[in-house]
Amino acid sequence: MTQQASLILRNVHPWGESVTRDIAVVAGRFAALEPGMTAERTIDAEGRLAVPGFVEPHIHLDKVLIVDSVRPNVSGTLTEAIEIIWERKREYEVREIAERAGRVIDAAIGNGVTHIRTHVDVDSIGGLRPLQGVALARERYRGFVDIQIVAFPQEGILRNAGTEALLWQAMENGADVVGGMPFNEASRADSARHIQIAFEIARKFDADIDMHVDETDDPQARTLEMLAEQTVANGWQGRVTAGHTCALAGYPDDYANTVMDKVAAARIHVITNPATNLMLQGRLDRQPKRRGITRVRELLERNINVSFGQDCVRDTFYPFGRNDPLEIALLAAHAAHMSLPHQIEQVFAMPTVNAARALRLEGYGLNPGDRADIVVLDAKNAAEAIRFQPPRRWVIKNGRVVAETTVSRKLFLQAE
Ligand SMILES: [Zn+2]
Repeated sequence: MTQQASLILRNVHPWGESVTRDIAVVAGRFAALEPGMTAERTIDAEGRLAVPGFVEPHIHLDKVLIVDSVRPNVSGTLTEAIEIIWERKREYEVREIAERAGRVIDAAIGNGVTHIRTHVDVDSIGGLRPLQGVALARERYRGFVDIQIVAFPQEGILRNAGTEALLWQAMENGADVVGGMPFNEASRADSARHIQIAFEIARKFDADIDMHVDETDDPQARTLEMLAEQTVANGWQGRVTAGHTCALAGYPDDYANTVMDKVAAARIHVITNPATNLMLQGRLDRQPKRRGITRVRELLERNINVSFGQDCVRDTFYPFGRNDPLEIALLAAHAAHMSLPHQIEQVFAMPTVNAARALRLEGYGLNPGDRADIVVLDAKNAAEAIRFQPPRRWVIKNGRVVAETTVSRKLFLQAE
């Protein structure tokens, strides 16, 4: 007897393939469409482009949408952004965090995001409330979007007494990934110890690591090299992600090459956050001002896995953001000077296959046996998707339609 499908998608154009095809969903996984197969619902994609869900690999759901309830960041710097949050973080309540996170998750789902990795602050100011708030939101959205939580010691581990114990507790209470901010310590020795502590925790919980690394213009920052060395020393190759890595762009080329070789050897995933870093970095420069984003093209040339994140949505770091990977793709293409056809394809790989690799997602793809997550876009190809940032016509998670968007526009151009 022919298998019954829950959903059949006809005339889908999978990104990277040359022709359209039909795809079936059976028991939450993609399956080959067999003759005579029927489904509860059939969608005709009419040749539209499809990807296996956008992956948001770097966001701070605990901080989103606080910009209107704090004083303004007058200097526009990372340092002031962090200081302003101290005041707000003391007043955090678990339900209020979950509610703010939820509003941004709604937007993400509508934009085709099927997986999110979020950092949550873990420190002596907010304790574990950011984790508890985001974990509550994760529960509410279970089945609609998958969320990984990173325990993020933004205030440093050694310079913020009590944080190490809180990190261990966070990992026991719902965090999946060990975070870090090693540049935010008082000395290089403390930065190295910060990274070492993260590995101690990661080894105990068999967890991946995802750190904020050298989010500074300071060419003296050295924590990316330290992270690469400790990754190899701990045998954690392929399980470590470095976010931001802005200082890499400020290094002289010879030292930058040395560091990138070590990053490649450690198989570290790099996540650039162009929206936030274009806004924050280079603030104290006179002209010419640095662009603030890492060496994206040089990293890619070394076959280092690079993706990008939204990072911030209306917080003290960044006043905009609508959690749309296509908006960040457009920014990334500009900031990293990626304009050629193959470079535009590389940009489109970032919030899809590259981010999925960084998060080590199982079954990410549109082939039989893969998880039935798929986004159908009102676009013919990647360049068009980035250019127009069109509606995500259907967003499907675990084989279920979780969002549909249509936009109607009328032009009245007839002469009277
Ligand atoms: Zn971040």
